[in-house]
Amino acid sequence: MKCPFCGAQDDKVVDSRESKEADAIRRRRECLECEKRFTTYERIDEIPYMVVKKDGRREKFERHKVLNGLLHACEKRPVASSKLEQIVNDAETFVTESAERERTTSEVGELIMHRLRKLDKVAYVRFASVYLDFKDVSEFMTELNDLLKSKEPVKEAPKDAAKEAGAKDASKEAIKTMLGGSSKGKSIH
Ligand SMILES: [Zn+2]
Repeated sequence: MKCPFCGAQDDKVVDSRESKEADAIRRRRECLECEKRFTTYERIDEIPYMVVKKDGRREKFERHKVLNGLLHACEKRPVASSKLEQIVNDAETFVTESAERERTTSEVGELIMHRLRKLDKVAYVRFASVYLDFKDVSEFMTELNDLLKSKEPVKEAPKDAAKEAGAKDASKEAIKTMLGGSSKGKSIH
């Protein structure tokens, strides 16, 4: 802890006790440089981190929600759950690093999709189709096109991706087109 008197970063704790309400720990510290004493308090971080939806509504960021979404997208796919946990950790770090204590759902979604695409293409398409909440196939395609254009193109195109994605009939063709077309790095309409 940086000394408030001289700015040195080394100190020793000379006394440590809980507050009366037991909601904080008070520590008396002594600077090893200038030997002056100061007090620090340790409290539980109670203010939640939020995600902001498109319509402005806010929701608590919750790890289990992100993990459930990922598990669903990776159902019957060869993806280790430890990899998914790492994505959840990355998403959590991203949200908690925000000075405003909040991130938009699209920011968090982009991060997750970026990670997921490196892991498994089918899971990525599944997640994207659910996450981006497409009203129809054309909106789905527009969004995927933007993603594909803005970042590096998808290299592999698993032949059975569309089938395994378990998409509805209408979007099956769209996914097939996306995977087939994207391997050539061209835009799809
Ligand atoms: Zn000092």
